[in-house]
Amino acid sequence: MNEPKVLVLGGTAEARDLASSLTEAGVGVLSSLAGRVSRPRLPVGPVRIGGFGGADGLAAFLRDGRFTHLVVATHPFATRMAENAREAAASVAVPVVRLARPGWEGHPDAGTWTWASDYAAARTAAEGLGERPFLTTGRQTLTHFAPWANRDVLVRVVEPLAAPPPRWTVVLDRGPYDVEGERVLLREHGIDVLLTKDSGGRYTEAKLTAARELGVRVVVVRRPPSPAGMGELDDAAAVVRWVDDQG
Ligand code: NAP
Repeated sequence: MNEPKVLVLGGTAEARDLASSLTEAGVGVLSSLAGRVSRPRLPVGPVRIGGFGGADGLAAFLRDGRFTHLVVATHPFATRMAENAREAAASVAVPVVRLARPGWEGHPDAGTWTWASDYAAARTAAEGLGERPFLTTGRQTLTHFAPWANRDVLVRVVEPLAAPPPRWTVVLDRGPYDVEGERVLLREHGIDVLLTKDSGGRYTEAKLTAARELGVRVVVVRRPPSPAGMGELDDAAAVVRWVDDQG
């Protein structure tokens, strides 16, 4: 095989770690970002920004760029990109793997949380658990919470919202967060129920600890399944070995 050349679909801390690990191992890498946030944290090495134009566009990009490997290191809830990657890789016969951080099912408090299969179910569950919700499921999920337009809701997002309901308090921030900061935020806003998705990882985990300490109920949206047949690895070193093993 030619020298390896890896396309990393990123937008996560794990993808940035992977770009560093591949670079250190002397492997050629290009990181791809969707372009959703105005000031993204950038990985080391070359970066391209913006969609590919669906699975066909990605397949053409892989072929034209002579990539030998594709790594899907997008957020576990970025389902469309992962599915496009599966389809594109198959059509141009490029090996693909997913780098996915472990979820929070194994968290010591997981058994005390209410697990929901989707955002609407999470909303309904939260309505039965508290009066002052803290929504941390991300900007793109907020349409599911439109029925809360006339409630006091604390929302945390990375990018400003175009027209949030007047009773919503919007905090602009992005991880990593610490337990002390999360405790202060929950107390300040009198939060009694926290909504999150099962992002996993350490960047946003502190809110779960703060919630337990303050007796705040937690509702967690379960992860969508990975694309059928796509192998999954959970750390950068394993992906470097995978690239190496493919020759
Ligand atoms: P998505 O729904 O799976 O993807 C929607 C479209 O965005 C894709 O079809 C693709 O457009 C483009 N896209 C997504 N990731 C891309 C990447 N790394 N490089 C180039 N194009 C990309 O994704 P999403 O949920 O909107 O997430 C967008 C980005 O934000 C991802 O990079 C993800 O890692 C990051 N992120 C997402 C979440 C989340 O909760 N979903 C949280 C934190 C970070 P084309 O079809 O035109 O190629």
